[in-house]
Order: sequence, then structure tokens, then C-alpha cells
Amino acid sequence: MANNDPVIHHSPLGDYQARRTVHPRRIDGPFRRLKWLIMGVTLAIYYLTPWIRWDRGPYAPDQAVLIDLAHRRFYMFDIEIWPHEFYFVAGLLIMAGIGLFLVTSAVGRAWCGYACPQTVWTDLFQHVDRFVDGDRNARMKLDAAPFTWGKVVRRAIKWTIYLAIAFWTGGAWIMYFADAPTLTRDFWAGDAAPVAYISVAVLTATTFTLGGFMREQVCIYMCPWPRIQSALMDEHSLLVTYKDWRGEKRGSLKKAEKNPGEYGDCVDCGMCTAVCPTGWDIRKGPDISCITCGLCIDACDRVMGEVGRPRGLIDYVTLDDAEVEAKTGVVRPAWRNLLRPRTIAYFLIWGSIGAGLLFLLGTRTHTQITAAPDRNPAFTVMRDGSVRNNYTVKLRNMESRPRDMLVKLEGLPGGRMWTDAMPAEAAARELLLRVPADQTQTVRVYIVAPRATASQPFELEAIATEPGGERAEVETQFQGAGGS
Ligand code: SF4
Ligand code: SF4
Repeated sequence: MANNDPVIHHSPLGDYQARRTVHPRRIDGPFRRLKWLIMGVTLAIYYLTPWIRWDRGPYAPDQAVLIDLAHRRFYMFDIEIWPHEFYFVAGLLIMAGIGLFLVTSAVGRAWCGYACPQTVWTDLFQHVDRFVDGDRNARMKLDAAPFTWGKVVRRAIKWTIYLAIAFWTGGAWIMYFADAPTLTRDFWAGDAAPVAYISVAVLTATTFTLGGFMREQVCIYMCPWPRIQSALMDEHSLLVTYKDWRGEKRGSLKKAEKNPGEYGDCVDCGMCTAVCPTGWDIRKGPDISCITCGLCIDACDRVMGEVGRPRGLIDYVTLDDAEVEAKTGVVRPAWRNLLRPRTIAYFLIWGSIGAGLLFLLGTRTHTQITAAPDRNPAFTVMRDGSVRNNYTVKLRNMESRPRDMLVKLEGLPGGRMWTDAMPAEAAARELLLRVPADQTQTVRVYIVAPRATASQPFELEAIATEPGGERAEVETQFQGAGGS
């Protein structure tokens, strides 16, 4: 790549070629170890999270993370999100989107290279290949060999492991939607809901196909994200770059020894391509095929160490820094590109949304009241001339224990109220109602006001009776017999 070339993402769509199986070679190094770490953490989170228990008392599920569709709740450790609080979920999704923008603008396609599920599962399946069939050369040899019983047995073992991983992946997914131990028992007993079996079947099939066989094809041909990423990157975004000004003209050690000064640092060993999980030759320049996983950096650094040349012939470099380095030989540290106006702006937006959500979470109450007056009839004139209005009052108790709530009439002079559960003679300006744990209680409330009371607004206030109890109020309208 010439020093001042723009970022090129070759679109492979126009010149599709039949896939050649990629057989990445084993490599060790800092980026490979980082990938191991991220792979271990993300897979552990995915597979194990539904099995974490979290005590919320006797009235709420004890699964730490649970999407309870039947009761329309989302539980995450101490946080319980109700349907009317969907803005929390929307906020988290927006944060995830802006987080991706932030990561892309700072470190290029790091998401693709390290944390994308397609990358993580493909990596896992490639390790299965290595475990069953051996490293790159052995696998290439086996692929090219005719089918024998030995090859059939190896394929059977490998695909069985693929299937087990895929099934476990699908199985883990449904555990987020019901109590994991109960669902596991029901699943194997044949008592789970049909949607559970269908979900597992679909996810098993997609994981088996996308991770086991399609692999890098998903990134290159199916995923829209690399196309969007190109628009988010600029000349200060980190890319895995082959430093052609240092590596070219490439040639073997022997050639370099015979012709001193004629060859660059690249000994043309092909290791960078051999370890690449997508089969890309980074020496051709940036491309949609390069997920910037850094494994070619590990490979080349090792080769440079072996031939006694400085590391970094392939490295994370921005276009801007590459240009400076090519002209002056000054290697600028990569981290200085992390702090710049664009990344700071993304971080501030991301952080502000996060802080806003935390504030809302910390200040939200667990008590709510709504009141809907009947419209037909809007009022009833009683025998003694007093006027009655009927309301559907909803009391929401968002705590996982039953609570007593005092509902008070504020305003509406002379007004009194009662419910179906008490005689009208017991009407008062306060009602004590018990609201079950984690539920919304619907109550019919009748409010009567003296004769000639004009139409007017008033409030119903709900006060939880426990010490330091929360308050919530709602304003509604009383309809007098004389109209408004
Ligand atoms: S690993 Fe390094 S030395 Fe070997 S071919 Fe790739 S760039 Fe050249
Ligand atoms: S070219 Fe290098 S950084 Fe890009 S995907 Fe291949 S190994 Fe990873």
C-alpha cells in the first residue's frame, strides 16, 4: 500500500469466488492471548450467566438474569425492569450502538477481531479443527486426501463436537427466558413449551452452519457492519498495517544475504497469511476480509525475532502515523490516537446516556398510582343529592414483597371514597389497600362529593406505609352534576 492511499475496503460482492477453506496455523503471542482471554470471558458469560442465582425473596424469581416474557419483566441482579420502563432497555441499546462507534473510531474493527459472536464461535470451531485434525499442514493434507475410513471417522468426530457446541449454544439461549434448572428438566422430559424446542433447533442449526462452515464468509459477504464501519473510520483509526516501506522488496534471507541492501525486512515466509483466520494476506493492504485480530502481528513479530530484525513490520498503525513513519522513520505510539475529538465526543455522549440511566435508576420509585374515571356515565346523582364518580385505580408495587398503601384524597372538599371490598357507609378520605408483591393491583374506587359540588381536578395520593415509605400521586377530574 502506498503511504497516502485512502482506507480501501475492497467489496468482494462483484467478484465472488468459490470459497477456499481457510486453515489457520497455530500461533502464540500477545494478541492471541488477548483473544483467548476475551473468548473465555465472553463464552463463560454467555453459557453460565443463566445459572447464577440471586435471592430476591419469596415473591420473585431467583435467577440473576432473566427475561420473564410471561410476566413482562427483565431481571438483572438487583435491577428489575417493568414494561413501562422500556426506556432503560432502549438506553442500553443506544449505548451499545454508540459504544461500537467509539470502539470503531478508536481502534478500528476491534469488535470484529475480538468480541463479535461470529468471531468468537469461529475461533472456537477452528480450535476444534486443530484438536481433531492437527495443525494447518495436517488439515490441508487431510482435506486433499480421498475419503477413507480414517477420514470419515475424523469428520464424524469433528462434526459431532460442532453439533454439541451448537446445541449447547442454542440451549444456553433459552435459559435466559425461564428458570434455568426447571427449564432444563422440562426440556429433557419433553415438557417444555414448543417455542423452546424450536429456538434450540434454529440456534443449533445456525451456530453449526455459520461457525462450523461459513465462518469468514459471514464477515465478508453477509454482515453489514464492516460496510458501516468504513464510514466511521478515518485516517486516525487504528488498522492492522503491513509497513511496505520497511518490508519491500520482500525476499528470503538467502536472497538478502546474497544481495545486501536490495531487500526489505519481509522474508516472504507467508506466516502472516498462514495464521490469518480469514485467509487474508495483509501485505495486500487493508480489506474487508481483515477483521484486525492482530494474529498476523504475532506471527510476524515472531519471525522478526527469529531473523534478528525489529518487531512491528506488521502492526496496529493509523494511516496518518503510517505516512509519518514512512517519510521520517519516526514510530508514533498507537495509544495517542485514542484521545482525539471524535473519540472524546463519542465517549461523552456514551457516558452521558449511561449517567442519565444510572440517575433514573437511582431515583425511580417502586410505587405508582393511576386513576381512570368512568366516562359513561360520568357521574351519578345519589338519592340524597350527592354526586358519585367511579374510577379504575391501579396501584403498582414494584418491590418483591407485599405492601400496604394508604390512598388519600387530596382536594375535592367533602369528598369520600370506598371500594367494592367495603360498605359505602364506611367511605372515608383514606383507604388502606394491600398490594401483592411485584404486581399492579386494580381497584374500583367510588368517590362521592356533596350536592352541588362543581367539576374540579383533585389528586389521589398513594403512600407506602413502611417506614420511609414512598409516595406517588395522580391528578384526575371529578365530574359534578352541573357539568364543568
Ligand atoms: S510474516 Fe512478516 S516476514 Fe513473513 S511474510 Fe508476513 S510480513 Fe513478511
Ligand atoms: S490480516 Fe491479520 S489482522 Fe487481519 S484478519 Fe488476518 S490475521 Fe487478523
